[in-house]
Order: sequence, then structure tokens, then C-alpha cells
Amino acid sequence: MTKGVLEKYRSYLPLTDDTPMFSLGEGDTPLVKSRAIGEMVGCDELYFKLEGCNPTGSFKDRGMVVAVAKALEGGVTGIACASTGNTSASAAAYGAYMGIPTTVIVPKGHVSRGKLAQAIAYGARIMLIRGSFDHALDLVRDLTERNPIILVNSINPNRIQGQKTAAFEIVEDLGAAPDLLFIPVGNAGNITAYWMGFHEAFINEWTSTRPKMMGFQAQGAAPIVRGDVVPDPETIASAIRIGNPASWNSAIRARDESGGTIDMVSDEDILDAYKLMASREGIFCEPASAAGVAGLLKHARNGLEMEGKRAVCVITGSGLKDPDLANEIEPEWMEEYPPDVAAVEQALTVG
Ligand SMILES: *Cc1c(COP(=O)(O)O)cnc(C)c1O
Repeated sequence: MTKGVLEKYRSYLPLTDDTPMFSLGEGDTPLVKSRAIGEMVGCDELYFKLEGCNPTGSFKDRGMVVAVAKALEGGVTGIACASTGNTSASAAAYGAYMGIPTTVIVPKGHVSRGKLAQAIAYGARIMLIRGSFDHALDLVRDLTERNPIILVNSINPNRIQGQKTAAFEIVEDLGAAPDLLFIPVGNAGNITAYWMGFHEAFINEWTSTRPKMMGFQAQGAAPIVRGDVVPDPETIASAIRIGNPASWNSAIRARDESGGTIDMVSDEDILDAYKLMASREGIFCEPASAAGVAGLLKHARNGLEMEGKRAVCVITGSGLKDPDLANEIEPEWMEEYPPDVAAVEQALTVG
């Protein structure tokens, strides 16, 4: 039986004897060695942390299992979140598993089809609001303050606690922290969680170093880079389409304490990295997940020395979440043939 985040990291999480223990199989995700992009940027040891392998297809599950367990421990009557899609999919799944009503508030027209399909299938109450993710988050904050419902967005500190376990796994797999960690930044909960995880691993002496945190926002949704709220964030990477990140200050702290950077990448760079990941690495990720990879490629182009470095790109979610975008890719080779082996053979030999 799968252990999951609660049991495996019990003594490093804010759990008590009264916390219910359960798992949908979150955590323990693969760390896969790069074959192409590492070579392109001159890095012998580049790895991808495949968070799309979590039960609902994104890293949100690591934090959600802790947030839901603590909500149940407190005797809650419901959970709610605002979401660009993945938080709602995760909340709805854990809500269904543990039998608690789940309300998800999503910006209408800005959630990919795959993610909405998940929330529908898991049976969440879905409220579409006209407005951005930032509006949805303000609304759900008010709602959960006025009602006995627990907010399970990443401003819930239990989410960050759960998500830090991904950093523990990287240290465990590599035997030490990497030199550099490339990660997309939206609401900035995950960069905060990784930094917390690496810091605790350092304090516990599982590693003698900590990585530089290299965070990447999309150019049209880059409030931290610009130093100002973006009222109408715009990017194809819907999971990081956020104009006023809730964990803004802790993201700055992660950047500065680690000696890293938070920079932005264009949608064009994100799409290039997204296609490269699938066609050259065999890893089909979300556009938002490709932002970290795009950031690595950009900084390598601009002279970042990668030789002799150990680096990890966090691949935050699965490409199957956004089938509409995937279907826009020009196929390498897709033609129609009669059901006739000779015709197919002929086409293959001609090339
Ligand atoms: C939530 C999410 C992000 C952004 O993480 P933050 O914690 O909001 O910065 C990036 N990629 C995917 C796939 C996500 O679901």
C-alpha cells in the first residue's frame, strides 16, 4: 500500500495524534535525467522532477493532503479554494476521497478543459466568476472568513508544509541539494515551499548546501519581476496567470537568501520549451511547467555557466491538462492512408 506524504514525512509535518492519516498516492515522484536539454545548455547533470505524476496530475496534491487532513482534524464542514484549475482538481479529489463538500471558485473562461473536467468528475461545487484568479481568491478569502469552511489555497500554511516534501525527495534522490532549481512562479507558494524544504534539509544535515532558487513568471503575468501588481495578467500558461501573488514576500526571501533570481519568459519561449520537453525529452508537461525550462534556456543563452553544475527543473503538471493547446501543435507527420499495408509501407520507405 502506498505510504503517501502524511505517513512518509509525519515527523516533519505539523501533524498530531488526532490528524487523520490517508493518501491518494501523492509524492514520491520521479527525478528523470535530461538527455537533450542538458546537453543544449552544457549541463551534465540536469534532472526533471515530474510532479505531473501526482494523483491529480500536479504538485498541488502534496499540499492538499496536509491541508485536508488538518481541516478534518479541526472538524470542518467543507473546504473551498480559488483556482486557475489545478488547485480545484486537487481539492475536489481529496474532498471526494474524504467525503467533505468542496467548493471551487474559478475565473470563467480561464481554466483549461482538462482541469475543469477533473473538478466536474470529482463532484465539486463549481462556481464560475467573471473576473481573474486574483478576484476569485479575494472572494474565497471573504467567504471562508465568514463561514466554517477551510480555505485550501496556498495561503493555508499546511499547503506549503506538504509541498516542501518535494525538496526532501530531491535531496534524498541526489544525496545532496542541487546547485540550481528552476521553477515556475504563479501565486509563489511552491517556490516558498521548496525553499522551506531545502532549508530544513540543510538544518537536518541531509545536505551541506542549498540551491540557488531560479523562479520564472510569464512576461504578461510578472508582478514580482516588475515590482508591481499586474491588474490584467495574460499568458498561455494559465496556471501562472496571476497578477498579485499571495506569497510575494516569501518568494522574494527565497530568491535573496538563496542568491537566485526571479525573472520572466515570453509565451513564445514557454511554447518552445513545452514542445522541446515533449519531442526531445519524452515529457509532456503543462505550459506553466515549461516556464522553468524556458528560464533555464534563456539564462544559458545569456551566459549562465552550467558546466559542472547540478540542476533540477520542477515539472509542475501534466500536459494532458490542456488538450486544446496540445492540439494546436503542428504534427511532425500526420497523413491519411487507405487501410492497405502496401500503401503504408510505401509511405514509410519514401519517408
Ligand atoms: C499552481 C501551479 C503553478 C504555480 O505554482 P505557485 O505555487 O502558484 O507559484 C505552476 N505550475 C502548475 C502546473 C501549477 O498547477
